[in-house]
Amino acid sequence: MKILQDMHIHSHHSCDSACSTLPDIRKDREELGIAHFGVTDHLHTQYNMPDIVSSRRDFLCFNFPENYHFGIEITCMAAWECERIASGDFVARGDVPIYGFRDDERPFDGRMCLDITLEDMRANGIEYVVGGIHWPQGFPSSRSEAIDNYFQQEMFLAEHPLVDIVAHTWYSLEMASGDWYRNRDKEHIDWGVHLEIPEEIKTRLGETICKNGKLAELNIATLTSYSEEVAVSHMKMYALWKEMGVKFTIGSDQHSAHPNKEQFVKMENLLDRFGFTREDFALPAFRK
Ligand SMILES: [Zn+2]
Ligand SMILES: [Zn+2]
Repeated sequence: MKILQDMHIHSHHSCDSACSTLPDIRKDREELGIAHFGVTDHLHTQYNMPDIVSSRRDFLCFNFPENYHFGIEITCMAAWECERIASGDFVARGDVPIYGFRDDERPFDGRMCLDITLEDMRANGIEYVVGGIHWPQGFPSSRSEAIDNYFQQEMFLAEHPLVDIVAHTWYSLEMASGDWYRNRDKEHIDWGVHLEIPEEIKTRLGETICKNGKLAELNIATLTSYSEEVAVSHMKMYALWKEMGVKFTIGSDQHSAHPNKEQFVKMENLLDRFGFTREDFALPAFRK
């Protein structure tokens, strides 16, 4: 199946290593024959809202066609992190909270937040929201705790009124389970955890995405870089969701200057292998 959309792309306005320009994103998509696409720079908390403002201002400098959309990728945060940023409680400790407070080991109290308001959405012309997990809340101490923590976050995103697309499910679970965030080395990555996610949890998540009218993302960057067995376990879950009526988007999650064409071919092969057709894909209801 030829990929005809790319709804998850980062530009140089993202706070991380992303480096593509907005005009290059368009030019590259036109070369790839992509019919609908959108830029989705990262928003973690209000602390990095200026990135979105600058992305939007840049976007408005060009007379882009209507099939080039302006979105964001928002991170599921612990509520206390957003509260700490709102109160200005970070300069005193000398930390710059672009990614929240990853070193603050207070226990996760179960409260989550997306640090954006409807007013921010309107003011920045945000047409759609991709919601993603980028790290654990707290420090899970076992595989099952890591899975449970990620499941809670995915469910929060799937039920959140501002989220249109649930991004790269289970992304970074291997790092949460391996305690990478405390150690930050290769020895603390637990790929096996991806094969231990209970079927019941996968089904409940698919049901919740479907019931709430959200779209699930097939993330090219992650699915084409996993080992065969991890990729298969995820694609089987998505194939199951497809049978349950879930509709999907595709996103390259490009951070490089230009898209990786080999990854697109690899992803198209995965789609064919797991029986995906054009009918399984949709676009978010863009806010105007
Ligand atoms: Zn992401
Ligand atoms: Zn991304």
